[in-house]
Amino acid sequence: MKMPCPMCQSKTKLHSGAQVDRYVWEHIFCCTNPYCGCTFVVSGEIRRILRPPKVPNPEVNLPVSARAAKRRENKEKREAAAAALPMCSPFRTL
Ligand SMILES: [Zn+2]
Repeated sequence: MKMPCPMCQSKTKLHSGAQVDRYVWEHIFCCTNPYCGCTFVVSGEIRRILRPPKVPNPEVNLPVSARAAKRRENKEKREAAAAALPMCSPFRTL
């Protein structure tokens, strides 16, 4: 992750990082400009699921994006429509 210094826009180096909780991380960055020397904290958060996992974890409670929810709804409709069709063989017997 590249993060420019908020003060002088110089390159920074990742100093350290830690997971705050299941969904939030914090990283400490240091400016490489010796005339600046700024050190700052950047946080990152998991906010929503774009593609639901094949094996959901019941302990994880993250919202699913509207687009992913619509995709899942369409898939369920297709599966229901396919289940309603009579079974037929792709191989014809003459
Ligand atoms: Zn700086």
